[in-house]
Amino acid sequence: MDNENTLKNKIINNKYYRSFKVRLSVVMLLIGVISIVVLGLGVVYIYRARAIKVRTQDFYNQMTILSYQLLTEEYFANPYSEGVEAKVELYSDLYDGRVMIIDNNFVVIKDSYNSYTGKYFIAPEVLNASKGNPTSKFKDGYIIITVPVVAGSDDPSNIQGMIYAGLSIKQIDTTTGILDRSMLVIGAFLMIGVIIASATVPTALFRPFNRLIESVNALKEGFSNKRVEADYYEETKDISDAFNDVVDRMKAVDDSRQEFVSNVSHELKTPLASVKVLAESLNTGENVPIEMYQEFMGDIIEEVDRETNIINDLLSLVKLDKSSPDINVELTDINIMIEKIFKRLSPLASQKGVDMIFESERDVKAWIDEIKITRALEDIIENAIKYNHEGGFVKVSLDADHQYFTVTIEDSGIGIAEEDLKHIFERFYRADKSHSATIEGTGLGLAISRSAIYMHNGSVKVESEEGRGTTFVVTIPIRFIEDNTLEISEEETLEEMPEVIEEETKEETIEEAQKIEEE
Ligand code: ADP
Repeated sequence: MDNENTLKNKIINNKYYRSFKVRLSVVMLLIGVISIVVLGLGVVYIYRARAIKVRTQDFYNQMTILSYQLLTEEYFANPYSEGVEAKVELYSDLYDGRVMIIDNNFVVIKDSYNSYTGKYFIAPEVLNASKGNPTSKFKDGYIIITVPVVAGSDDPSNIQGMIYAGLSIKQIDTTTGILDRSMLVIGAFLMIGVIIASATVPTALFRPFNRLIESVNALKEGFSNKRVEADYYEETKDISDAFNDVVDRMKAVDDSRQEFVSNVSHELKTPLASVKVLAESLNTGENVPIEMYQEFMGDIIEEVDRETNIINDLLSLVKLDKSSPDINVELTDINIMIEKIFKRLSPLASQKGVDMIFESERDVKAWIDEIKITRALEDIIENAIKYNHEGGFVKVSLDADHQYFTVTIEDSGIGIAEEDLKHIFERFYRADKSHSATIEGTGLGLAISRSAIYMHNGSVKVESEEGRGTTFVVTIPIRFIEDNTLEISEEETLEEMPEVIEEETKEETIEEAQKIEEE
């Protein structure tokens, strides 16, 4: 058994067995050989069958003519006629066969071989003919025909005798033999053609694929600006297009990673540079007053805090960026969650003189990772407070339908310029440098928020008008949908996600979620 397995594996792993070119060659060779053999044998067989049929018909016609002659010459009454004798000889010579004329009593009157003359000859065919039925059959290389000699009507009583004739098909076989040999020669030439074709055509057909492989190999070194070019076949074009797409995407990822690393280095260096300047000025200054010491030390602590914030944010981002981030989904009361965020941010809001309003359309419970979504919403709400005016407001509204809950964060703050709007979710992006200088931040908050929302298959939209305020709309599914839902069968997906239902049933869905929690 083991041996069998290893042999099977050996065959399967054999490079020739696995080669597309070799397989194509073998298939071409097999098709070629089978076609030539079938064609050759078929032609010879059809020719022979047809020749025998024509010859039989021809011979039968001649025997019928002979039977008429026997009648007109009243041969059975007077069994000697020069005409009949000559004809019988002629037929047996011409057709390389034997002709016997037999009377009603089954006595052979005339035999072209002479050996049966005067003897009884009873064979099944002769008996059949004696009843008025002509016969023809092919046996042992001979066509055998019997014809009744009937005067007037077909009444068996009018039968005067029978003709029994055998015809050799030697001639036909000789012709078939010649045909056989010709087919063999033609077949041999065709076979050579097929062998040459099956050895060369697959290699030629495969050439564009070789070019594709070479092209891909040339790119192996790195994401150069070169592209895979293999447009010869539609198939190679599809592969090269798909490959170029992948390369483009990887290049984009590589570029953004490089940009990210350089941004990170820059951002991490800035607080350190400040710390160094502050420390150096304290170190090199003579008789530095204690107040200055305290002030500079306070600044150093602030810079260290900033550095810590950046590092913490980076760690959060890295965690969210993992291909399968740790996600801890639980049924969460969104109203309570937002109230907790409000509690934490209210000191900042009162310090800034900003009013905080929370409006909830209904109680909402959803399956989410509470820590991640809290972080995402807290960042957006904190921004709404940070980038606001004294006496301004931040209004957070919560609503839900049967599938999603929506948190809208509206502020009356400084707004975001249109050209900045499309960049605010990028890492380290901070709009309007004049504000960024006075308002603390790492530029990572919204990037983290968006990652967490996307991880829940949610969306975040932003609208803003400079000087008037900004509105963020965060939409998240109530039932957590994992990315691999695409692999789930249709029925399961339908079961997982309720069908679209009317407005009135919203409440029911929320109640349902609560029931699930109780269970
Ligand atoms: P930061 O740490 O700078 O707040 P974020 O990623 O949270 O970083 O935000 C990116 C930038 O988007 C901010 O620097 C700010 O310029 C702008 N921004 C975000 N939210 C608001 C808002 N509510 N109003 C005005 N500008 C905002």
